[in-house]
Amino acid sequence: MREAPDESVVDPGAESHRAIEAELVALLYRQTPHAMAFSLMAAAVVANALWHTAPRAPLLGWCALVVLAFLARLWLFVRHAHAKPRGTAVLRWQRPYLATLVFASLVWGVGMPWLVANETPVHQAMAYVFIVGMAGSALTTYSALRRAALTAFFVTLAPATLWLFATGELIAMSMAVGGLLFAIGGTRATHVLSASLRNNIRLRHELERATRIAEEVARTDDLTGLYNRRAFTELGSAAVDYCLRHGLPVGLLLLDLDRFKAINDTLGHAAGDAALKAFGALLKQSLRGSDVCGRIGGEEFAVVLPHTTLEQALIVAEKLRLACARLAIDAPEGRFGFTVSIGVGHGPYDFESLLQHADAAMYEAKLGGRNRVEVSPMALAIGHGTQHEARPAA
Ligand code: GH3
Ligand code: MG
Ligand code: MG
Repeated sequence: MREAPDESVVDPGAESHRAIEAELVALLYRQTPHAMAFSLMAAAVVANALWHTAPRAPLLGWCALVVLAFLARLWLFVRHAHAKPRGTAVLRWQRPYLATLVFASLVWGVGMPWLVANETPVHQAMAYVFIVGMAGSALTTYSALRRAALTAFFVTLAPATLWLFATGELIAMSMAVGGLLFAIGGTRATHVLSASLRNNIRLRHELERATRIAEEVARTDDLTGLYNRRAFTELGSAAVDYCLRHGLPVGLLLLDLDRFKAINDTLGHAAGDAALKAFGALLKQSLRGSDVCGRIGGEEFAVVLPHTTLEQALIVAEKLRLACARLAIDAPEGRFGFTVSIGVGHGPYDFESLLQHADAAMYEAKLGGRNRVEVSPMALAIGHGTQHEARPAA
């Protein structure tokens, strides 16, 4: 039965952490393609600069590795685009992403110092500046995921920096110190960037969750957990319209608890509330998933029964009437029960008309002695069923 959804809130801890993480990985996949293209162009610039000085075979070998890293990442991206992972499923794509990222970063981080190992100091200095630039651009490109940004940053920068230190030459070591300072600033920058990005996503998630809860609360009757009148009208109308459009039979029950005021007056308001809750629970457990059920007034309930013939609607109404009469509620004064009068509207009428028909039939049930099911004459005029016999009070 369609009732107001459970308001219980998803654990905002681990689940929301995974959701944020997944969004960051998805963002990473979106941010990367331009960096891949950039890396190819940068390799072309390097190859051009070293073409006349560096030995051909290592230079071409390095270029081949750049292309291989590019193709590995391209292959991963094509597979990712094809798989279209949704929600936290994207987390499974983090590891292969990091693997290809490490490979691409190693090609630059290790390959470049190796290429210029025997070049002039000017060439080596230029290469180092190039590496620092590549590492810096990695910081911003992969900022969505700090792990990825730091991995790319250090794998690109560390080998050349260590190598400069290892030369023992003052100028080279000074450059390496510059690289170290840059690394400290870069590490701090990724922290600030990724924290603010994470915070942004977390706030958006919380806002969405709060909006969802507020919407649910606005549609739900607190006491019974069923739809309130507004939500019932909205969803019930939609269900009736659907049936009318598709030529399906549709029924509407209006259920009013009998002499409910007397329960409040004699046993107290708390006992009345307990009775309303129990009746709400009875409706929930008795109806189908496609039925729309709400509490539309103090002790008045209504149900839209889509794709239901008049005969079937009467069976449902009678089942509910009998089940209600069997309910036993515990109160300080002892156990008590109550009955319900039900009006049935049915036929090719719009929601408002069906509600009016059911209301009139329910009024007839009250007049007839209560604890009865009455069918609207409009339903009988069209319906396929015979008049449902009004039942005597049980
Ligand atoms: P009838 O058989 O003709 O329907 O009689 P009734 O007493 O059920 O009808 P009436 O309209 O006179 O009274 C309805 C009562 O329902 C009045 C009110 O005290 C009670 N009621 C409405 N809302 C609530 C609620 O949320 N909690 C409780 N405990 N009682 C409620
Ligand atoms: Mg009433
Ligand atoms: Mg009543």
